[in-house]
Order: sequence, then C-alpha cells, then structure tokens
Amino acid sequence: MKYIIITGGVMSGLGKGITAASVGRILQNRGYRVTAVKIDPYLNIDAGTMNPAQHGEVFVLKDGSEVDLDLGNYERFLDIELTAAHNITTGKVYRTVIDKERRGDFLGETVQIIPHITDQIKTCIRNAAEEEFPDGTKADICLVEVGGTVGDIESMPFLEAVRQMHGELPEHDIVLIHVTLIPEDTMGDMKTKPTQHSVKALRELGLHADIIVGRSDNPISAGTKRKISAFCDLPQSAVISAATAPDTYAVPMEMEKEGIAAVLSAHLGLDKKEPDTAWYRLVNKEYTNRVTVAIVSKYGIEDVYISIKESLKHAGRALSTEVKIAWLDAERYERCSLKDYDGILIPGGFGKRGIEGKIEAIQFARENNVPFLGLCLGFQLATVEYARHKAGYADATSEEFGEGTHVIGLLPEQEGVNELGGTMRLGNYNADIRDGTLAMKLYKEKQITERHRHRYEVNPQYIGDLEKAGLVFSATNKNRMECLELPDHPFYFATQFHPEFRSRPTHPSPPYLGFVEACRANKRTI
Ligand code: GLN
Repeated sequence: MKYIIITGGVMSGLGKGITAASVGRILQNRGYRVTAVKIDPYLNIDAGTMNPAQHGEVFVLKDGSEVDLDLGNYERFLDIELTAAHNITTGKVYRTVIDKERRGDFLGETVQIIPHITDQIKTCIRNAAEEEFPDGTKADICLVEVGGTVGDIESMPFLEAVRQMHGELPEHDIVLIHVTLIPEDTMGDMKTKPTQHSVKALRELGLHADIIVGRSDNPISAGTKRKISAFCDLPQSAVISAATAPDTYAVPMEMEKEGIAAVLSAHLGLDKKEPDTAWYRLVNKEYTNRVTVAIVSKYGIEDVYISIKESLKHAGRALSTEVKIAWLDAERYERCSLKDYDGILIPGGFGKRGIEGKIEAIQFARENNVPFLGLCLGFQLATVEYARHKAGYADATSEEFGEGTHVIGLLPEQEGVNELGGTMRLGNYNADIRDGTLAMKLYKEKQITERHRHRYEVNPQYIGDLEKAGLVFSATNKNRMECLELPDHPFYFATQFHPEFRSRPTHPSPPYLGFVEACRANKRTI
C-alpha cells in the first residue's frame, strides 16, 4: 500500500479535496486502484449533526454514515463507494481510545496523545486503506487528506501520526503533497511568502513537502516556481500550478499537463506511464444547449447542495446541455419569478423555516406544467401540497412542523429515539418500481438501490386518499413510499431518497437525467 498525504497551508477552502480527488483520478487513469481517506480534526463523531451552512453538505455513504462533503468528491472523481472508515474525525479517534482505556486495554499505563492517539490514527488510516472493494480487490494507493490548515492545534496529532508513518514505511511508499495559496499583489505579482511560511510550519512538525500544489487565480509563472523551489527545498518540477478551473472535473487534466504524474511516479516508484484519456474526453464535451433550473432552498450556499449541483452537471453533460442554477431563497423569492425558469427543484432539508415558499413553488410547477424534481423534503412537501390542494386536507403538513393533518409522519422505528446523531433512516435501501410509471421509464429496472437520510415518511393512513386524488406512488419499499409522480404532467417526480449521492460524471443519476431532459423540452429561458 502506498500513501499520498495531502495537507493544506495558509488557509482553508483552497480546494484540497478536489486536488486530492484529481490526483487519485490521474493515477486511476494509469490503471492503479485508488482509495481515499478524509481526516476531519473536529470533535464531532461525524458530520451528521453539523450545520451545513458552516461545513457544507452532509454526504451520505452506502453504509449510512454521514460524512464530510469531500467524500462525495472522491466518490464522484474515482467512481468508487466508500464507507464510514474513510472519514476519520478527532471524535471517533478519542472515543475509541477512551473506550479502550475504560475496558482496561492500557492497564497500568498513562494514556497519552503520543503514542495512544497517534497509534489509533495510524490504525484507522491503515484499516481504511486496506478495506476491500466490493469485488474483493484492494487499493494500490490511498489518498489521505488532512483537513484544516498546517499549524492548527486541532490537526497536530494527525500530522504527528503522518510523521511517524514516514519513518515506518519504505521510502517509496509515502509522499506528501502540500496545497497552498499563491496570492497576487495589486501589481499582479505572485507572492510566495505565505507558501514559505506554511512550508516552514510543516518543517517544524518534522514534515517535508515533496510536491507543492499552488492554488492561484492565474497559472504560476516559471519564475515563481523557481522561487518556491529554492525556498522550499524541492525541484521546480515538483511545484505544480493549479489555477482556478471553470469546472472542477477539468482539474485532473490541468494537473496532468503540469506533469504531476511524473513527479508522483518518481516518488512512489510507479511504472505505469500512459494514461487512459477517456475520462478527459468525457469532461471536455461541448454544450449545445442551456437550461436554467430554480432551486428553492433555505440556504443559498452552493456547498450545502454540492451533490445536487454536480448531479445536474452530470446529467447536463450527458445531454450536451449546460445547466445554470438560480438559487431562490425559500422565504423571500418573488412568486412571479417562477415562470422564468425551465424547471424547479426542491432539495432536502430539515425544520419548518422556508417550507411554505417551497410548497408554493411545487404548486406552481404542478399547475403550470413546469418540470419538477423533489428530493427527500422536496418529496414530502410535494405530498403535503397535493394533500392540501387536491385531496381535501387543507391543513395537511408534516409531523416535523407541528399541528395539522400529518400526511407526513414519523417513521415508526423513530418512536422513542432520543439521540440525534446517526439515528435517521440512513444509507442504502431498495425500492421496487411499479410497471408503466415514469420511475420505470427513468430507471429501467424493477428494483433500485438509493441512499436515504430521513426521519419522516408518507403516513400510510393517507396513501389511499392521495392515490384516489391522482397522486401516483411509483416506487415503494414495502409500505414505505419512495417515489411519487403525476401521469398527466410533463415531468413531476420526487423521491424520498437522495439520488444525488450516487450520481457520477460517468453515469448520471436517472431522475436527474429525466429532469434535465424535461427542462430542455420545456425551455423558456435563452
Ligand atoms: N426533514 C425530513 C425528514 O427528516 C427530510 C429530510 C431530508 O430532506 N434529508 O424526513
């Protein structure tokens, strides 16, 4: 097993995750099997209980773990499916060590950050790296992205564990990539000082950057590379320019052009040279069409809905259609503006805020034949909207929001659940698709598997009335409703699950494909 460690300097939010995923893609294109681990140096056990407005989307894996959004980037770029083991947090590490201490595993010892916590970190990294893929094979190379910025107190134990790994592994089995910011001054000159400082901070921890990826608005000049090379003790060829790309999927190709593969190969003793370029051709396809989709949501922050955004992109690319997104604030948007979009999408969410605005948008889509895609909360609100305006339950709502007719109710297994961390209906569940439905047309399969994250469902008590009023539940898991649709509408489709978590640039998610295609057919915007 070979390890590629990715650290970040200067500041967070530089696109370390995309850099890591791109490096993985470059190696995968050469025939190596690649897996990835994300380290998040916070005390939460997982990302499930965090506010997405602060940390971005909570990504859900097949095993139901709620993880950092970077795992979504890895899954999309590498076309693999990861598990809980691939997101290591300070909380998980400490919990394991403290549980062991209570069991008496360290009897007589003083339990300390070094060696107990660092040993546990190394074990977690190794376990994730060695985990088998579903076909029984293992990865050749494991990417390890250390979240946060070098110098943070929180990431110290993780960087110390990495330092120890350096000493323990054979020379060609570990390489460190440091992602840093190269800002420009008002004259347009590129400044290397922040990079020098962060490399110095790495050095103080006993780590040396083998490769520096410089993030900047414009490509880094040869002169700047020379300077970084001199100050940071690495050859000029190991300074990789990563200027902001218009599309993240283009990053692997840009880094490929910078020659990162040769530098990595030399460090890791890799011999496969020629990359398969199919992936690069795929992401380079030209658009011949454009649609604009309105996403009516509570947070207008794109990172909260990154998987949805990417899924629209995957579908759009397959249909040579550029998908523009208009973010409408559910509490504030102008109702009359809804007519200006080619389609309306209502994403998942929690809590009462903004739901009435979303319901109005759903009603508008239903009554005006505008393509509509509802996801999780969007599915539940479509049920509420239909119950209110078509099935005679004027006070219909979800149990999550308070008084009224609960056409959406708590899942029975949630009764008495008091802990909020990791207790929803999470991860992969099957759904059986009804013949002759839009769901069947989209998926072309009788049974599908998709990822879930919810506590509420369509209340079985009201299914009969909703169906009688014309709503079609086209996919179910026993008596649990998974998809809904309206037969006499150009595209009205909603899912209790989150199809966006399984969408890949190489195989877009069927509901997203159908939605974008319908938006194109409905095209009103220019
Ligand atoms: N809040 C809803 C539930 O818990 C929907 C969740 C979601 O959209 N992810 O069921």
